[in-house]
Amino acid sequence: MITGQTTTKRLLVSGAVQGVGFRPFVYREANQRHLRGWVRNTPAGAELMVSGPVEAINDFIDAMRRHAPPAATIDRIEIGDGHLSEDATGFHIIASDHDGDICTRILPDRATCPDCAREIRDPTNRRHGYPFTNCTACGPRYSITLQLPYDRDHTTMRTFALCPECRREYEDPADRRFHAQPNACPACGPQLALWDRRGRVLAERHDALLEAAQCLLNGGVVAIKGIGGFHLMVDATNDKAVATLRERKHRAEKPLAVMIPDLETAKRHAMISESEARWLQSAIAPIVLVKKGVLPLAEDIAPGNPMIGLMLPYAPLHHLLMDEVRRPLVATSGNLSDEPICIDAHEALERLGGIADFFLVHNRPIAHPVDDSVMRVVLDRPLWLRVARGVAPLTLPRPTSTGTAPMLAVGAHMKSTLALATADHLVVSPHIGDLETIPAWEAFERNLETLEGLYETTPAIIACDRHPDYASSRYARRRHEAPVLVQHHHAHILAVMAEHQLDGPVLGFALDGTGYGDDGTIWGGEVLRVDRHGYRRVAHLRTFPLPGGDTAAREPRRSALGVLSELGLSPTPGDASGFSPREITLLTHALHHSINTARTSSMGRLFDAAASLLGVCHQSSYEGQAAMLLQAAAEHADAEGVGYPVHLSEGEPMVIDWAPIITGMMSDREAGISTALIAARFHQSIVDLIAAVAARFPDLPVVLGGGCFQNAWLLENTVRRFGERPVYWSVHLPPNDGCISVGQLIAAGWRASS
Ligand code: ZN
Ligand code: ZN
Ligand code: FE
Repeated sequence: MITGQTTTKRLLVSGAVQGVGFRPFVYREANQRHLRGWVRNTPAGAELMVSGPVEAINDFIDAMRRHAPPAATIDRIEIGDGHLSEDATGFHIIASDHDGDICTRILPDRATCPDCAREIRDPTNRRHGYPFTNCTACGPRYSITLQLPYDRDHTTMRTFALCPECRREYEDPADRRFHAQPNACPACGPQLALWDRRGRVLAERHDALLEAAQCLLNGGVVAIKGIGGFHLMVDATNDKAVATLRERKHRAEKPLAVMIPDLETAKRHAMISESEARWLQSAIAPIVLVKKGVLPLAEDIAPGNPMIGLMLPYAPLHHLLMDEVRRPLVATSGNLSDEPICIDAHEALERLGGIADFFLVHNRPIAHPVDDSVMRVVLDRPLWLRVARGVAPLTLPRPTSTGTAPMLAVGAHMKSTLALATADHLVVSPHIGDLETIPAWEAFERNLETLEGLYETTPAIIACDRHPDYASSRYARRRHEAPVLVQHHHAHILAVMAEHQLDGPVLGFALDGTGYGDDGTIWGGEVLRVDRHGYRRVAHLRTFPLPGGDTAAREPRRSALGVLSELGLSPTPGDASGFSPREITLLTHALHHSINTARTSSMGRLFDAAASLLGVCHQSSYEGQAAMLLQAAAEHADAEGVGYPVHLSEGEPMVIDWAPIITGMMSDREAGISTALIAARFHQSIVDLIAAVAARFPDLPVVLGGGCFQNAWLLENTVRRFGERPVYWSVHLPPNDGCISVGQLIAAGWRASS
């Protein structure tokens, strides 16, 4: 084309471009280039008409791709010929072609942006010290969304009327706060209050913050209402304060997350790589598990754990609080054990009254509980342990092979999530928690209601776990006479396939805690050949008896007894320490007569057995503790851990015999080999057995899924072992049961479209 020639183009932008400052950005960029035209929101994203010199338009499109606001995600820009009347002047933001702005996605909450962080510290700014400052690049989204489309009337900000100055910002396309739905200032927005345990107001506004800070400095426990719920906070450098919190929360050993004032301080308390630093500072602001550093925090924060979970302040309230206390604070979810995080101030008084001394609350309601997300960096990629605030609702592209019918999946039981399939997306709820308590069930229903707001109709296809007794499965059966039943480990593999858009066949290693097997036993060490038509169980771990049913998951020593009994060995003192001789007699009897004893092929339970046999962990006080301690032990090995022999049977399903591993460990122990080295050899054996099974199916790409792959050592070394061979694992979803809902959607979609 000839330079200087004028043209008119119509651009259709799809992706997450609403409620993120995209139109003001486009407005600025167009005006800078003296382009004429307009922009408006559409159900699919945004539509633009631009007229001007060809070069300027190309440059404008380039800017859109490269400099879009940080919260925006552009999936696609379709460029076609357009038309603009000759007398149209300037560039405008015009009303959308529907009533109001239809948001195609619910957006996740975002950590305070640098501009807002600067404003709250600027004494000349009208938002100086204001803890609810936000703009289109940052602030709450999902946590305040009551219904769609996403506009102020549909958020919990609807009761706050904008003051004239906030309204001007909200309506000015050139302003950073143009259509920032939670826009607020000290004159018109939410305010803080400090309550005592009886809900009496002790202080308000900035004084409330100052007094809460003082209480923290004095070693008190303060419940602080944040973005997605309450945190319980204490001074992380104060041993006594941390011990008090643990005692009151009945949380003996499970690691506590720590909020750290800034990256520099974080680097003194932990070893932080460049990519870990990037994640800490990201708009997601997750809890990042990093290696402990030289400067110790209170002893009790993560006992026995070489890692520590850190996060940076992500709400203006946190920034302002950190400016006062200037030290790391424990910031753990405001809940009891595994209940969902508490979101309502009066509910907090009731549920957290026995834990917190004071309550720093505010009057911006939270629509949904959203915990902090948790991740670590493995192989330079994110390994998510909990997907929640900042990420959820997570949106993934829907594999085209699964059709377009709307579907709902209700997930598993522990670490529950829900997922919906729209015509072209998979939408995953935040981590809800274990569906064992009433608050968890309420959170499940509330999330369901919100996510179903994406649809104009209720999905006709519902998928659930094959386990008949999961609360989620029961719900699915109440709603639908024939829900799609999906085997748990099949779902684990399908979830990873969904992330990577794989149609199969693949060789899926589902190494997991427990899940309902097709043959009535408890599965968890499964190798499945998976394609669009279903799966074949090509190999599994040799089964062993597990005495005591559900108790076994909390008592690794029971797995150890089961493994010994399977080998015809009786426990010797020290093997299953903590059991009285009488308990051993009773359990041995139960094992011999299969009383209250299930058979399992679970890899998670084999890790438990190994941890107990080594004396690393006999009873766990939180899920995954035994495997975590075993991994920590392995990392202390001073020599390379050569794997124990692995034996695979012929035929199908192939049985992976762990007996040589366990007997090898026991003779090493007798020979006085260090626990660390034996733990390392155990880990190496698991990598070896994965490689040995995979070698029998050389043509299939490998997929790794299931809770055992939360173990960074196992994941990293398994992936390395495969070298050039294609291997896939989760980088958006957690490998634990948080991914099950997505796997269920894929199974249902393939079944419906086959
Ligand atoms: Zn901002
Ligand atoms: Zn205002
Ligand atoms: Fe699982």
